[in-house]
Amino acid sequence: LDVNFAPYINFKGESKGVVVVLHDITEIRRLEKMRSDFVANVSHELRTPITSIKGFTETLLDGAMQDEETCRNFLQIISDESERLYRMIRDILDLSKIEQKRIPLQMESVHVQEVISSAVTIVQESAQRKHLTITCPDETPEIWMMTDKDCLQQIILNLLANAVAYTPENGRITIKTEVTQQQLKLQVIDTGIGIPEKDIPRIFERFYRVDKARSRDSGGTGLGLAIVKHLIDNLNGQIFVDSVEGKGTTFTILLPGVKKFT
Ligand code: ADP
Repeated sequence: LDVNFAPYINFKGESKGVVVVLHDITEIRRLEKMRSDFVANVSHELRTPITSIKGFTETLLDGAMQDEETCRNFLQIISDESERLYRMIRDILDLSKIEQKRIPLQMESVHVQEVISSAVTIVQESAQRKHLTITCPDETPEIWMMTDKDCLQQIILNLLANAVAYTPENGRITIKTEVTQQQLKLQVIDTGIGIPEKDIPRIFERFYRVDKARSRDSGGTGLGLAIVKHLIDNLNGQIFVDSVEGKGTTFTILLPGVKKFT
């Protein structure tokens, strides 16, 4: 608590008492703590791939280069870890821009199915490698809405990428759309590993992962859902999660702005 005193003197110059201003600074402290936790987390998260890049490079320089197979394996790890480092820096910068609303929303008329298709195209290759089937909503009825196309695409892409990452081979991913009261209801449903109930409230926090090792193996940065949550907030939407461990997960988003639905 921050306390300020000032004598209260009326227009005749008579002292009438004291004005006491109490500032509740717990909120400020909380934000400060969040910021310093974030810096600590970022440093830790960035150090992990760098340590591994450094370690494998040194081992190669120390002589492991003689063996071609070892050399190839190590270089693959170095390449993957550099990729992850790149994605992490990109996500950290994106998240900070989105949070500070530094990218103004570009509202335009958007054809929802088209945005879904382009997001699906991006994950298609990794889905095929795991023999996952992705089912998209029908082309009719066509849904048009006033929204920011890049934001919508990023939201759908992050949810889809997670569905691909956390669904074992031969699984199924279904995208469903529906319009209720000029709101778009979009669902990404997977038959994946699911999320334990106790972790559900925390998955939208930055760097929170149910299983760090699995997230790392799937190339995750731990920021995908934090980005989704912020983008949805900026678009005045909502997001819900339903999940059963070992069965699958459904992410449901509600976004305002549906214009036409034919
Ligand atoms: P990550 O880069 O680790 O995937 P996210 O922020 O996208 O980070 O997700 C946070 C965590 O939520 C993931 O590490 C994973 O444990 C869990 N998660 C997200 N989506 C799914 C899903 N579709 N199925 C199961 N777990 C998921």
